[in-house]
Amino acid sequence: MPTLVFTEHHDGEPLRPSLGVLSKAATLWDDTAAVLVGSDVAPLAERAGAAGAKTVYVADDPALGDPLPQPRVDVLARLVADKGFDTVLFGASVLASDVAAGLAARLEGGLNWDLVDLRLDGDDLVGTRPALQDTIHVDVGWSSTPQIALVRSGTLEPVETGGTASVEEIDASVDDWSRAATMAEQARAESEGPSIEEAEVIVAGGRGLGKPENFALVEELAKALGGAVGATRAVVDAGWYPYASQVGQTGKTVSPKLYIACGISGAIQHKVGMQNAGTIVAINKDRNAPIFDFCDLGVVGDLHEILPKLTELMRSRRGA
Ligand SMILES: Cc1cc2nc3c(=O)[nH]c(=O)nc-3n(C[C@H](O)[C@H](O)[C@H](O)COP(=O)(O)OP(=O)(O)OC[C@H]3O[C@@H](n4cnc5c(N)ncnc54)[C@H](O)[C@@H]3O)c2cc1C
Repeated sequence: MPTLVFTEHHDGEPLRPSLGVLSKAATLWDDTAAVLVGSDVAPLAERAGAAGAKTVYVADDPALGDPLPQPRVDVLARLVADKGFDTVLFGASVLASDVAAGLAARLEGGLNWDLVDLRLDGDDLVGTRPALQDTIHVDVGWSSTPQIALVRSGTLEPVETGGTASVEEIDASVDDWSRAATMAEQARAESEGPSIEEAEVIVAGGRGLGKPENFALVEELAKALGGAVGATRAVVDAGWYPYASQVGQTGKTVSPKLYIACGISGAIQHKVGMQNAGTIVAINKDRNAPIFDFCDLGVVGDLHEILPKLTELMRSRRGA
């Protein structure tokens, strides 16, 4: 059952969700392959090999530099047909979702999305998909090939195997009609420090902050810890913080080593986005808040008093 993993990259870096899917696939199949599509992407093949790929197919062409889906569908569709892959896996992102959907339509394959795990039942691939607002997990399968899957970002961690992959250059040509869409402009959100998808430490703020200006307390602690800032939907909906930082069912799923929840009640829709964190610390003035049922360390108190002291302590310990 040859399996191919789309290894997405931006700014010369493979994305963690893609590498996480690759590492997972390598535990299921001996001969997992990765594909890199873009401009000047050949140097990334080593990273894909280290994450578990045995073979890395590289479509390297300046014309593939912009992160547009249709040219990638052309390259993948040809590769899947030529090499006979019957499974194609993606770490979910906006680009990966477009490519996966286009590939499914082109090859009449089955697409399961929002998966949080993969396993084999005999030779059959089984996906785990949250349902009913993430309160239960259901098993999903495929009734047509290629079997295509989008795995929720932040759920599978990359594992360095130390392996090396053989690298094969592949045809990077695209159909004329796939050049019809061009990238007019790319904008970048300015941010300091790591993104919440990549961060090892996340300090998240909720409605308990009281007002948007108090996010400064959360930002200061995140900065002192070299981490990123997360937010609940309540504060995002209120316009206190950007949606890009929202953690939860309708935001991002994150898996940092440390998650510090400040003034967050711990609603199920928030929990599903951060429950995979290594250690969860909660600061909440209500000792009956649901977050105390699943955090590792709970501090009952007023965040306005605790956060400045914690930030000061971290700064002095880190000598900053
Ligand atoms: C379909 C659906 C999808 C959703 N998706 C998401 C999602 O992706 N992410 C998400 O986060 N939510 C999501 N929600 C909303 C979710 O149900 C909660 O409403 C939300 O998470 C609550 O945010 P909060 O914890 O900031 O606010 P609250 O629930 O109001 O909690 C605030 C907490 O702050 C504490 N507090 C107040 N003052 C202080 C103080 N001075 N010091 C310390 N603690 C204090 C309070 O005790 C309270 O526990 C979704 C809801 C639905 C229906």
